[in-house]
Amino acid sequence: MKVLVVNAGSSSLKFTFFRMSREEMMAKGIVERIGLKDPHLVYKRRDGVQVEEDAPVTNHDDALRLICGKLVDPAVGVVASLSEVEAIGHRVVHGAEKFRDSVRIDGEVRAAIHLCSTLAPLHNPPNLGGVEACERAFPGVANVAVFDTAFHQTMAPEAYLYAVPYKLYEDYGIRKYGFHGTSHKFVAGAAAEFLNRPLHSLKLITCHLGNGCSAAAVRFGRVIDTSMGMTPLMGLVMGTRCGDIDPGVLFHLLKKGMTVDDLDTLLNKKSGLRGVAEIGSGDMRDILAAREAGTGRAASAFAMFVHRLVFYIGGYHGLLDGADALVFTGGIGENSVPVRAAVIARLAGLGCRLDAARNHAARGAAEVSTDDSTLKAIVIPTNEELMIARETVRVLAPPDNRPA
Ligand code: ADP
Repeated sequence: MKVLVVNAGSSSLKFTFFRMSREEMMAKGIVERIGLKDPHLVYKRRDGVQVEEDAPVTNHDDALRLICGKLVDPAVGVVASLSEVEAIGHRVVHGAEKFRDSVRIDGEVRAAIHLCSTLAPLHNPPNLGGVEACERAFPGVANVAVFDTAFHQTMAPEAYLYAVPYKLYEDYGIRKYGFHGTSHKFVAGAAAEFLNRPLHSLKLITCHLGNGCSAAAVRFGRVIDTSMGMTPLMGLVMGTRCGDIDPGVLFHLLKKGMTVDDLDTLLNKKSGLRGVAEIGSGDMRDILAAREAGTGRAASAFAMFVHRLVFYIGGYHGLLDGADALVFTGGIGENSVPVRAAVIARLAGLGCRLDAARNHAARGAAEVSTDDSTLKAIVIPTNEELMIARETVRVLAPPDNRPA
């Protein structure tokens, strides 16, 4: 089966086209700045052929048309006809409690995703826009929604409820949902393969460290807790998000004259590594370089990032009653030797010891702890697009053919 994976944002449309018989990416790319000044297309084929051009697009339908044109283009395309697109998988950010699993999209599902928009007003509407554009561009082709929140739906109430009046949960759905679920699910499965053990026998702590960062405690394939909350603002220190903060700080700043929108921008866009380091960037590569050079407060930002992560790892180790492996993924987790080293250096008490040579040499899936570590530390590159394509194939398989 050939599957198109679509991730539609408010002004961008990312796509990856897979041949699933080999789990092979055939082409991928992005249309950016849709409806803004100077929209732009980047299209890459598996063999390295790349096209970059101005994209005269004002909406997702235009963007999709442009992408379709490239997929069948005699010079750079990968299929003879669009009829080879057999299914489409969509990243949808919020599935609330309604969606515990990926689902084939119909009118009812579309309406339910729309209802979940109250919890993700910036993400679900454009995700849905991408679905509708695909329905128009590929009539009769099945669309599947894969939710960032779904993998975390196995948490128990004591993990997902906030200690506020229960009515807030009942009336407004105020609870922890967690995000990055597609990535946590992918790396949990890949970690089991790497360790050559069944997922249902493993206790894992998965750490997705990208621009947004989250950790999850995964017991026998099911999430028992995760660090992001009702929104992706909670938990770890991130590129520009604060992560955990005393809610009393918000009252204090509101009383000082800040507006709700000011607070939103402050905590989502101007905090985290960026806010602390004061070097004009929340990118971990810049933080590491500034820390080396002694610029700004980059050393403090780095130390806070590590401290918070170690705090969560320790907590999850406790909740899991011991763990088999710690999994690093995301741009930072996969690439940053100093971050992994600094975190693992703090975990000797949990039985995890750094193998510095392995950590330096790690490329792709790799163990970075010593052989005698009882808590293994491994790097697993994430692949959310492939996970969405796999989910699409699984959901569309005839029921008696579907893996459990
Ligand atoms: P997103 O969450 O937007 O998908 P990524 O998973 O690509 O982002 O992660 C982006 C982060 O990964 C940035 O902080 C970037 O600095 C970091 N990163 C990427 N490569 C490296 C590297 N070689 N060393 C340290 N950090 C890196």
